Amino acid sequence: MDDRTFRNAMGKFATGVTVITSSLNGQVRGMTANAFMSVSLNPKLVLISVGEKAKMNSVIQQTGKFAVNILSDQQQALSMLFAGQLKEERNVEFAWMDGHPILPDSLANILCDVDISYIAGDHTLYVGKVTDIYMKEGDPLLFFAGKYCTVAGLANEG
Ligand code: FAD
Repeated sequence: MDDRTFRNAMGKFATGVTVITSSLNGQVRGMTANAFMSVSLNPKLVLISVGEKAKMNSVIQQTGKFAVNILSDQQQALSMLFAGQLKEERNVEFAWMDGHPILPDSLANILCDVDISYIAGDHTLYVGKVTDIYMKEGDPLLFFAGKYCTVAGLANEG
């Protein structure tokens, strides 16, 4: 099968949207990712998948830490920024929790130490041991068939 068929099929899986954040030598980097899942309750583990070309790889490998920021429906612009979809550069205000840079106003900030990593084809899977979590109320930003949507948007169409 060709790459487009594979991507289209994977896009049929509706997801939330996260921004992975990490900081190296005081420089914060963010990267939009929807390849995120909860793995284990005891111990508490989550997984992200990062493409081999992403600069985020070397940051996570050097620091051994990352945070998963689960975006609300008010944060689409941040998703676009950290996916390189916006032309202009923007200054983003990060908050700090236990030495992790995080995006304030996210639905959840999940702080992780890398437990194990595994190269899978052209991506690296990072299993993170969860060290702390912060949560806020709100509705999620969603991604389906290559487009952003919201719970309200889906409900309207249903
Ligand atoms: P860069 O390309 O260097 O950074 C991404 C953008 O963020 C750049 O425009 C940069 O200027 C900006 N940026 C970074 N740090 C800061 C900062 N401190 N202040 C302001 N701006 C900053 N890729 C994956 O590997 N895995 C996934 O699961 C995944 N899921 C995605 C889901 C969605 C909905 C989308 C839209 C994209 C997804 N991508 C995923 C693609 C990924 O987000 C992009 O390829 C990204 O550009 C790669 O990041 P990078 O580490 O190379 O960072």
